[in-house]
Amino acid sequence: MNFDDLGLSQPVLQALSVQGYTTPTPIQQQAIPLILEGRDIMGIAQTGTGKTAAFTLPSIDNLRKSDRGAPKKSCRMLVLAPTRELAGQIAKSAQEYGALSGLSVAFIVGGTSVGKDRQKLARGVDILVATPGRLVDLVDQRALTLHGVETLVLDEADQMLDLGFIHALRKIVSWLPKERQTLLFSATMPKSIRDLASNYLNNPAQVSV
Ligand code: AMP
Repeated sequence: MNFDDLGLSQPVLQALSVQGYTTPTPIQQQAIPLILEGRDIMGIAQTGTGKTAAFTLPSIDNLRKSDRGAPKKSCRMLVLAPTRELAGQIAKSAQEYGALSGLSVAFIVGGTSVGKDRQKLARGVDILVATPGRLVDLVDQRALTLHGVETLVLDEADQMLDLGFIHALRKIVSWLPKERQTLLFSATMPKSIRDLASNYLNNPAQVSV
C-alpha cells in the first residue's frame, strides 16, 4: 500500500514526498482513512510508529475541506501533549506536513513568555499544539477560547495522566464544543485510559499496532 491509496489530498501527498516518505506505517494505514471519514479514534501506539503523521495528515485534509479559517483567539485543531519536547516535535511535523496547505500552526508550552503566546493566538491559528497546564492558564487569562475546536487530539494520554494532568484535561474538555472529532493515542491501555476514552470519545474505532 502507498500513501496515494489512503484518500489524502495532493498538497499533503506532495509534502510527504518532500519528507521522503514512501510507504505508510501500519498505524497510518489503519487510522488515516478512518480519520478522513470523521471517526473518533482510540489508538494504541508507541512513539516511533509514525502516529504523529497518522493523526496530523488526515486532520490537515479535514481542516482544508471545511475551510473556515481560524477564529480569533481560538484554534480549529487542538493537540495536547504531555511534555514541551513532544509538543515542539508535533508542531514541527504539523508545519512540515501542512506546508503546502496554507494552515497556520502554533505551539504553546510552559516556561516561555505568556505575552508571546498572546501574540501568537490573537489572530487565531488552525493547528495549536499545547501542554495542558499552559493551555488552561491561557484560557483562564482570556488569551484563548476553545469554541472553534473541530478536532481534539490527546497524544500520549497515559503519560499525561501519569504527570497529573487529569484535572487540566477535564477542564479543557469541558470548554470544547460537544460536536467535534476526538483522537486519543496512548502507549498503554490501563483502566484510567479506558475511562477517559469512554467519557471523551464517541463510538471510537480502535486501532493498534
Ligand atoms: P512518531 O511515531 O510520530 O514519533 O514518528 C517517528 C518518526 O518516523 C518521525 O521521525 C517521522 O518523521 C518518521 N515517519 C513517520 N511516518 C513515516 C513514514 N510513513 N515513512 C518514513 N518515516 C516516517
